[in-house]
Amino acid sequence: MLTNADVGELLWMAARDEPGHRRRALERASRAARFWPEEAYQLAHAGRSLDELRAVGPWVAAKIHGWLDDPPPVPEPEETRRAFLTYAEVRRTLDADPRWEADPSGDLQVHTTFSDGSLTLPDMVEEARSVGRSYVAITDHSQTLAIANGMTPDELAEQCRVIDAIDRGLEEDGDPFRVLRSIEVDVFADGTLDMDDASLAGLDLVLGAFHSKLRSTADETQRYLAALRQPRLHVLAHPKARMYGRRVGLVADWRRVFAEAARLGKALELDATVWRQDLNVEMAGLARSEGVRWFSIGSDAHSASELGFLSFGMATAALAGIPRERILNYRSVEFVRSWARAMSAVREGS
Ligand SMILES: [Zn+2]
Repeated sequence: MLTNADVGELLWMAARDEPGHRRRALERASRAARFWPEEAYQLAHAGRSLDELRAVGPWVAAKIHGWLDDPPPVPEPEETRRAFLTYAEVRRTLDADPRWEADPSGDLQVHTTFSDGSLTLPDMVEEARSVGRSYVAITDHSQTLAIANGMTPDELAEQCRVIDAIDRGLEEDGDPFRVLRSIEVDVFADGTLDMDDASLAGLDLVLGAFHSKLRSTADETQRYLAALRQPRLHVLAHPKARMYGRRVGLVADWRRVFAEAARLGKALELDATVWRQDLNVEMAGLARSEGVRWFSIGSDAHSASELGFLSFGMATAALAGIPRERILNYRSVEFVRSWARAMSAVREGS
């Protein structure tokens, strides 16, 4: 039986043989296949039309029907496209245990116009609230990531003032929704952070991520250990730094990296962006079995619609056997604040 991942690969390969607009239609359908909520074969079996599926018109539908009726061999995808869940798999996983979506949960990575997001901070907060999140961490980039319009310390301070004002308003209205002062700070190749210590000390939660030298094929274990040992870093975001169809991400001795995260009590992120899914199911399972205590899920949304990506991270956690008690998102906002504060207090010896 061809899954949507298989159909996506076949569409991608078929695109190679077509010119111009046909090629674009096949590539568009291939990308869209990752978001189809049901398997194409289920629709076909039920006698429903495949053009219910996004980016599928009559010509593409006929091609897919041909493959479903007489499945061609599907070669293993190239490495940059392996081990990504499709939304059909996400739905099957989460529908089997509805508490993943029904239990109150926050979103621990979103971007705004303070860096490379498309919505202003108040608008992003309102969108996250309206899709039912119980809190949200605003995690704009730091200044070295110029391509993403990263923040200077002054801009971060200004952002914190905006967040404090929103939180005061929510409190006065008796609304339990909260906004965490946070950041996705760049971690340099030597493990140091792209923001001064005093600025980071004023935040509720610090995510750190690698954004440079991501095509290195050398063993980067030391880079990970140095990052995890940064006292201000609470969460290592999109740890492998892979990107669908573009790069496989960094290489390291993952058992050692995860053991160090476990020893230090740091959280690893399950970045839920469809094109990242980082950690993936297999690596998240390894992290769990190596004793990593805490995980954090972020939609990494840069727009309102991307807030929905969070379900990919939930499904990753479910398939990796990570219980919700070990996922910060399912803890209260007060818990997340005090969890991060306790980590900093250990550092300061108080
Ligand atoms: Zn990032």
